[in-house]
Amino acid sequence: MHPLFLSKNCLLSLCVSLISLMAASTLIIYDDINITIIPQSTYQIVIVALFFIDAIAAIFMFTQYICNKKHYDILLLGFAFLSGLLYFAETIAVIQKPLETCTTIESKSNDIAIFYLFRQLSFLFLLLLSLFIHTPGHKTNKNRKLLLLLLSLFPLLIFPILSHNLSSYNPEMAITITYYHTGSKSQMWVMGYVYLLLALWALCLLLIIYRTKLHDDMWRSITVLCLSGFCCNLLLIALLRYDLSIWYICRMLEAISKMCIITTLMYSIFHTLNNISEKAFHDPLTAIYNRRFFFTEFDRFLQEWNFTPYCAMIVDIDRFKRINDRYGHEVGDKTLIAVARIIADTLRNEDLFARIGGEEFGILSQNINNREMAKNIAEKIRINIERNTSIDGYYNLPESMTVCIGVYFSTPIKHTSSEAMRLADIALYQAKNSGRNKVIVYEPSFDAPPPARGEEH
Ligand code: GH3
Ligand code: MG
Ligand code: MG
Repeated sequence: MHPLFLSKNCLLSLCVSLISLMAASTLIIYDDINITIIPQSTYQIVIVALFFIDAIAAIFMFTQYICNKKHYDILLLGFAFLSGLLYFAETIAVIQKPLETCTTIESKSNDIAIFYLFRQLSFLFLLLLSLFIHTPGHKTNKNRKLLLLLLSLFPLLIFPILSHNLSSYNPEMAITITYYHTGSKSQMWVMGYVYLLLALWALCLLLIIYRTKLHDDMWRSITVLCLSGFCCNLLLIALLRYDLSIWYICRMLEAISKMCIITTLMYSIFHTLNNISEKAFHDPLTAIYNRRFFFTEFDRFLQEWNFTPYCAMIVDIDRFKRINDRYGHEVGDKTLIAVARIIADTLRNEDLFARIGGEEFGILSQNINNREMAKNIAEKIRINIERNTSIDGYYNLPESMTVCIGVYFSTPIKHTSSEAMRLADIALYQAKNSGRNKVIVYEPSFDAPPPARGEEH
């Protein structure tokens, strides 16, 4: 199993277990705490922290959408996180209001509950819109996009205005979501609202599973968030009255699941970056380094070169064209992969090895004591290729392959990477001209200019 697959699932299961653990522990540590002694500063810190978590998640999603406009569902999800910010700001304002005769702790708590209710409703509304448009691989038509954009104005503009007016700011319209129970000295939720939220979270959970099949990491982490939203509301029913410990546990669940989303988004960014750099320096067919990487590394090596001998080689498959002509390109590709693997297996880990042309490979070996040693390494490569590509061999090739290897052994003269490879190419030309399946080490007497072989790097 791929390690990435494991780590992703581990993260997901870790979040789910954390959520279940916290939900279960709430039932155990549930304690009667008088709402009048709620430490306001702690409350405020948690709300501010959640504000920034939502803001970061929204920024990540908008950036992702800007980079790839096909993901309209991500834009709507970004709106979902953005919509929470206004309610957090309202909550902070409510907490800061001084307790005067006109502002009681009960009405403060009711206002906070109203903003909490609307924060969830806005998020769920936008989440549903995002799910509605989630069609992987398909382009969303313009009219549909416009309609969804208009609909998203409800949770982004109308809901905040409505919630503001339904709170104690407008006593004529104010609604009661939580009330103070004098007997138990605790805050109670009007259960109808909790049932509504429970039903909506459950609906979203099911729709995510149905629409996305949980193929996508991001949607998997949104599932964790829905699960935590569902659990938080379930706690309100299970424990009958709103309590400080529930509040802390719920906010903790919310923070963990949102951090899980941010982690997923960051992971996908770094994963994509890694893929891009892999592609930039690797040959897609043989999976070894490409020409660009070879010459970049060669130049870097020469910049720090302290005149310890090294050798550069070009390995060119003999009469490779006939493999393509006789058996087709697929067999040609298979042959290239086999030759690349045999060379890689023959070389030491520290050697630089790359595909520098169609059927040409470049090698840079450091710490080579003398010309003999350089020649021996090349001979070993040549023999291994001839032997291991035999018919009925491990690689199942139709013909045994041979190669010519041109070797340049360093002299005290400092050559550039292109010059060193050109000298190796002159030696290779000599090998081709003297019957193929040969290794030749460059000597200054080889002054015949070779024909143009491949482009300069
Ligand atoms: P020589 O012994 O002189 O090197 O002869 P050769 O046939 O190996 O050399 P030539 O340069 O004439 O042919 C190289 C061939 O390599 C031509 C091209 O079709 C083939 N080739 C280059 N890249 C690929 C590839 O990625 N896949 C396949 N299947 N063939 C490739
Ligand atoms: Mg060639
Ligand atoms: Mg060739």
